[in-house]
Amino acid sequence: MAQFRIGQGTDFHRLVVGRELWLGGVQVPHTMGLLGHSDADVLLHAICDAILGAAALGDIGVHFPDTSADFKNIDSKVLLKKKRRISCRKRVSNSKYR
Ligand SMILES: [Zn+2]
Repeated sequence: MAQFRIGQGTDFHRLVVGRELWLGGVQVPHTMGLLGHSDADVLLHAICDAILGAAALGDIGVHFPDTSADFKNIDSKVLLKKKRRISCRKRVSNSKYR
């Protein structure tokens, strides 16, 4: 029988004037955008948290803290790619995930 893991993710950012609105990696034309250290893409952040949760690797804040200048205004698609690599390494290095 195949083994699988399930993760859940949620995310919230405040809607403010003067920011671009990004949802699922797509810029949405709007007069307001989501406030955050990165591009504040709530959909991609929730997907990242779901992947990390399924791999028991914490959440997005653990891997990409909002105190790091490295992630200031970063495209969340980049974070999602990095998360995928992190979770794949975990799967390969831990036999219980095989
Ligand atoms: Zn977020």
